[in-house]
Amino acid sequence: MAVPFLNLVKQYEGIKEKVDAAVAEVMSSARYIGGPNVTEFEKEFADYCETSCAVACANGTDGLYLSLRALELDPGDEVITTPLTFVASLGAIREAGATPVLVDAREDTLNINADLIEEKITDKTRAIMPVHLYGQPAEMDKILDLADRHGLGVVEDACQAHGSRYKGRRAGSMGTSGSFSFYPTKNLGAYGDGGCVTTNSEKFAEAIRSIADHGRTTWTHHAKEGINSRLDAIQAAVLRIKLRRLDEWNERRRKLAGIYLESLANIPEVRTLSIIEGAEPVYHLFIIRVSSRESVMEKLRERGIGCAIYYPVPAHLQPAFSFLGYGEGSFPVAEKATTEVLALPLYPEMDESQVPEVLVALKESL
Ligand SMILES: *Cc1c(COP(=O)(O)O)cnc(C)c1O
Repeated sequence: MAVPFLNLVKQYEGIKEKVDAAVAEVMSSARYIGGPNVTEFEKEFADYCETSCAVACANGTDGLYLSLRALELDPGDEVITTPLTFVASLGAIREAGATPVLVDAREDTLNINADLIEEKITDKTRAIMPVHLYGQPAEMDKILDLADRHGLGVVEDACQAHGSRYKGRRAGSMGTSGSFSFYPTKNLGAYGDGGCVTTNSEKFAEAIRSIADHGRTTWTHHAKEGINSRLDAIQAAVLRIKLRRLDEWNERRRKLAGIYLESLANIPEVRTLSIIEGAEPVYHLFIIRVSSRESVMEKLRERGIGCAIYYPVPAHLQPAFSFLGYGEGSFPVAEKATTEVLALPLYPEMDESQVPEVLVALKESL
């Protein structure tokens, strides 16, 4: 039996009545931009993330960009992040006028190696951007301590970590701000693009709100150069419905991941990622590491098992970022990982009986 990588239609079918009614209501309200759904969603998402403020925006990349802009970076300033991420993390740093400085990943979790950050801090460093990769928080204790000692901002890239916790605290609530993406395949996904920044600083939230609205401070006064980055009312209405299900969906992901992990422990050719102390991951992706990755992927796909590579090339080896000057060999852990990682099907709508099907196909593929 085929197991798709994702099944967003099945998810929609489970919430169709509510979603259709909410969308229809927005359509007849004529409040397509801003309005009560956006305001209420911001409140509900801030509550969910256990922060005092949330500012909705057009996508996750904008959320990162807006956070960096609110830190008032100067040209030439540096922001530390990881090469094992979606390129948007680096793209947002560039867009904000700063330079990404990269730090290798940890072998066991593939998140940024917090022990290697301090040696990269210079007098130009202004912020650290940890990425909670695959839904597991980075080592925030160490990162927050470094930021505190060196006077740096912390912009959490929480685009894969809606609802995860580190030592009891939600992703997006620990740094200066957290940025979330509501791209349809994320743990909380819209039916289009969407994003949000969470923060515990009223002042930071106001700065972000203004930069996202053409630098406005009043309707006719523009204090700073800004951009247009808004969450549509239709997407906000959809997200409000889905947010109520997020904990339940994340719980399902953890349960399915548990079944995978138990069985994979008996397959020596397959490695899985470690969970650090205090982390409650939300398994945005379920990642395995195999040395014969390309052939395993091909064989799984032949058997109808959806799988995908996140990420086939580390960001520093993408042509777009070659100007940073990092060559092959700069980040051995991240580089090795990109030759071995493979994401298996895992989503809340997946049936428990589908996990053994994936595992049987995987064993045959090895
Ligand atoms: C999805 C993602 C982004 C970008 O989000 P968009 O909404 O697509 O702009 C940024 N960083 C990471 C780690 C992501 O997974």
